[in-house]
Amino acid sequence: MNRIPFIAGNWKMYKTGPEAVDAAKKLASLCSDVKDVEIMIAPTFLSLPLVSACVQGTRVKTGAQNLYFEKEGAFTGEVSADMIKAAGAEYVLIGHSERRQYFGETDETVCKKLRAAFHAGLKPVLCIGETEVERDQEKTFQTLDKQVSDGLKGFVSDELKDLTLAYEPVWAIGTGKTASTTQVDEVHQYLRSLLSRRFSADFSGRTRILYGGSVKPENVKELMNIRDVDGALVGGASLDPDKFIKIIKFYLQEI
Ligand code: PEP
Repeated sequence: MNRIPFIAGNWKMYKTGPEAVDAAKKLASLCSDVKDVEIMIAPTFLSLPLVSACVQGTRVKTGAQNLYFEKEGAFTGEVSADMIKAAGAEYVLIGHSERRQYFGETDETVCKKLRAAFHAGLKPVLCIGETEVERDQEKTFQTLDKQVSDGLKGFVSDELKDLTLAYEPVWAIGTGKTASTTQVDEVHQYLRSLLSRRFSADFSGRTRILYGGSVKPENVKELMNIRDVDGALVGGASLDPDKFIKIIKFYLQEI
């Protein structure tokens, strides 16, 4: 099954509006000759409409880092899926480990957010991953199984055609520790078969599974060579366009 590589940048709580626009413009111009790679950046909510406008018509697409599942209402400080869509975004990250760790995100809220995203016509990137303690206790697969099963509870595969999964071991995010190719291979194969068992082989074969966790120009090619890795979700190394472009052009890198 042909899955187009997808390289996504999570800009977290970095860059003011003007800084985000500058970086996005630079990235868009560096990406003009990229072929067969889908590219997305997720700036803060405040920068999202500005960045979406400035990359319009280029290879770079935009996404939000989170959403709130209600359509509208008295939910001070929150942003709905429709608002994100209207800001020009195509994607939204859901269930990022920092949301789970610091903001009380649960598999139940993840599930509601996914529903809201699909309803608004956004393409969600569902982030999952085990903590270091869970890995040490050999609970990696159990954790991922629960995050996928509960996060996608009640969905049928037809509703999930625009879903992307991102495997991000929590212990590898922003730490400089990358999971080994053996670890990544093992987990991505597990997730591929989990999607097949839970939905269908066809759905599993069509769904992109990204790896995230200290991806950089030096390790991206090796990671992308793993059969079931369809792309990368990149934090720190996506902030600098000169660095991020090397990840986007992973096919030019040496191992
Ligand atoms: C992330 O924020 O999703 C991430 C993977 O961060 P980093 O690349 O900095 O580890």
